[in-house]
Amino acid sequence: METILIEGQNGKSTIIVDERFEEVTKYLPKKKHFIITDKNIEKYYATVFPEAPFFSINPGEPSKQLGYIESIYRWLLENNADRNSFILGIGGGVVCDIAGFVASTYMRGVEFGFVSTSLLSQVDASVGGKNGVDLDGYKNIIGTFTQPRFVLCDTRLLKTLPHEELVNGFAEMVKHALISDIKLFEQLEHDCIALLNLNQPEISKHIAESIRVKASIVTADERESGIRKLLNFGHTWGHAVETLTGISHGKAVSIGMEFACRLSMEKGLISNRDYLRIINLLQSFGLPTCMNIEPSRVFKTLVKDKKRNANSIDFVLLMGIGVPKIETMALEELKKFAE
Ligand code: NAD
Ligand code: ZN
Repeated sequence: METILIEGQNGKSTIIVDERFEEVTKYLPKKKHFIITDKNIEKYYATVFPEAPFFSINPGEPSKQLGYIESIYRWLLENNADRNSFILGIGGGVVCDIAGFVASTYMRGVEFGFVSTSLLSQVDASVGGKNGVDLDGYKNIIGTFTQPRFVLCDTRLLKTLPHEELVNGFAEMVKHALISDIKLFEQLEHDCIALLNLNQPEISKHIAESIRVKASIVTADERESGIRKLLNFGHTWGHAVETLTGISHGKAVSIGMEFACRLSMEKGLISNRDYLRIINLLQSFGLPTCMNIEPSRVFKTLVKDKKRNANSIDFVLLMGIGVPKIETMALEELKKFAE
């Protein structure tokens, strides 16, 4: 069992890797508990909390619509939730984002924690205190920075996770290695098959390592004014690909990481050898690195991105494996690469 601490301006969060989810009661404060989960996974976990009121969302991103969230506030009101209540989210990134958002806004904020059940959620979504919901096609546009009191990552839960969802999580794990540490990247190369098979101790070790990367970045820059932007590696291009094609987030980010690495290579920042090594690792995890889609269409979608400055964009490049660089690129320059 490993414990990772995040100390932000918006609270402290303790992330516990490899604790059995049944033990969550040990971490719950003595308060009235309210559980938010989703319909795919409630069957696994409902038995652990027979008395606590449950709200089970329909699985998937559409449940993150702000309008839908109102029904959760009403459920809390009907069940007499007050400032002294505690909200526990049990699920993947969608549940954690919703539970964190609802908890940090209901009655100006009640305490909350997560049992994180998907790989993406364990290494990414439940780490860092960002939560958010969607409005009119804008993802995560309404939200807060508030740290969950605890995040429990029981790696056994990943056994029931569909393979496609597992692969989404591996994309973020490769990203964390690429922006932080060549040794971590080498370990991923070495342990790839074991990770795909969810073998122990490799899966737990790598989940903890990946969380540590994100936790240290978030602790240094909770509100994304500086180095937290590194976490956008592969995402600027990837989000545009996701929007255009509807492919899964992890696959789109993989395509985005290939683009950022190619850009880095063409700018003379990384060698062809490093580029090929990165492509090889992504492919070993079953992630795509190219797609039949016109780059100019991706560029046009990217330009509409809400995070864009007037004529330039902060793009995360690599100067080596594990050595990232935030470069403010003129849109004209990026456009040339996308032709
Ligand atoms: P998700 O929550 O929709 O989970 C994916 C699917 O797997 C769902 O159908 C879910 O029911 C199922 N599932 C989850 N755990 C399972 C288990 N143990 N066994 C069987 N099925 C299981 O999606 P996700 O990929 O976990 O998270 C994506 C969301 O996370 C997005 O909304 C994204 O915006 C958000 N996110 C937030 C942050 C952040 O910093 N707040 C970071 C990254 C992503
Ligand atoms: Zn992502």
